[in-house]
Amino acid sequence: MVKHVIPKNLQDALNHLYQGDYHVIAGGTDLMIQKRNSADLPPLFHSNMLYLINLEELKYVMKDEAQIKIGSMTSLETLLHHKDVPELLKEVIKEMASPGIRNMATLAGNIANASPAGDSLVPLYLLDAIVVLASTNQTRYLPIEKVIIGPRKTVIQANELIKEIIIPIPHFTQTSWVKVGGRFADAISKVSFAGAVTVSEGIITDFRIALGAVYMTVIRNRAFEKSYKDLSVEELKNQLPQILTRYQELIKPIDDQRSNKNYRNQVASNLITDFIQKI
Ligand SMILES: Cc1cc2nc3c(=O)[nH]c(=O)nc-3n(C[C@H](O)[C@H](O)[C@H](O)COP(=O)(O)OP(=O)(O)OC[C@H]3O[C@@H](n4cnc5c(N)ncnc54)[C@H](O)[C@@H]3O)c2cc1C
Repeated sequence: MVKHVIPKNLQDALNHLYQGDYHVIAGGTDLMIQKRNSADLPPLFHSNMLYLINLEELKYVMKDEAQIKIGSMTSLETLLHHKDVPELLKEVIKEMASPGIRNMATLAGNIANASPAGDSLVPLYLLDAIVVLASTNQTRYLPIEKVIIGPRKTVIQANELIKEIIIPIPHFTQTSWVKVGGRFADAISKVSFAGAVTVSEGIITDFRIALGAVYMTVIRNRAFEKSYKDLSVEELKNQLPQILTRYQELIKPIDDQRSNKNYRNQVASNLITDFIQKI
C-alpha cells in the first residue's frame, strides 16, 4: 500500500526521507503527467509520496547585496511578480506553461525533473545558480551543472530534497532570452537560448551563453566564454565564425516529435549570431 504523507515542516520532511523510501512531489505539474492513469482515475503512484508544496518555510525570496535566495516551494507565478527576481529569469518564467500551472509549479521541480528542455534551467545555468540540497545529516551547495548529470538524471540522493536555489546578483549590461517552441507559451522548447554580456567602455568583461534542448543537458562552456573576455565588441563580432564552429561542436541535438537535428543545429547558430550581432 502506497503511503501519502504531508509533512508538518521541513524537519519532518527530512526525517521521513531519512527513515523511509519516499518520492517527493512539489507542484506535481510534471509528476502528475508522468504518473497519469486511465481517464477518470487518479494518478498511479507506485512509491510512497511526500508532499512538499504546503511547507511555508520553503516559500520565500530573500535578497542581500550579493545574492538572491529562493525557497524551493515558491511558485513560478510568485517569482514572476517578485521585485527581487532577476529580470532574465522572469522573462523565462513568463513563457513557461500558463498561469494556472505556474501557480503550482516550482523551480525545484524543473531542476529535479532534469529535462534537456526544462526552460528555467537555461537562465539558472547562465546565472551560476547554486542548488542547496538538504538531508538530516548535511546541507550540500552545488552549482546547477553538478546537480543535473543527464536527461532525467541528477545527483540528488534518496534522503535529500532541494531546499533553496541561490542566484548571485547579476550585473550584465545586456541579456537575451529566446524560446523556440510550437507556440508562444505552454509549449515545450525545441531550442532555447540565453545570453548575457557586460561591456565596460567598449570592452567585454563578462560573456555568457547557455543553450537548452540541443544536448543531454543545458550547454554552457566557461572556457569558451573566458576566451572572449577582454576583447572589444568589434573584436568579438569578428570572431563570430569561430564562435559558431566551437559551439557547433558542443551541440548534439536529437530528432524527436517536436523537431529534428538539422533544424535545431541551424536555429542554435542563428540565435548565437543574433545575440552577438546585437551587442
Ligand atoms: C501544461 C504544462 C505546460 C508546461 N510548460 C512548461 C514549459 O513551458 N517549460 C518547462 O520547462 N516546463 C513546463 N512544464 C513542466 C513543469 O510545469 C515544470 O517542469 C515545473 O517546473 C515542475 O515543477 P513542479 O513543482 O510541478 O514539479 P513536480 O511535478 O512536483 O516534480 C517534478 C520532479 O521534481 C522532483 N522534485 C520536486 N521538488 C523537489 C525538491 N524540492 N527536491 C527534490 N526533488 C524535487 C519530483 O520528485 C519529480 O521527480 C509544463 C507542464 C504542464 C503540465
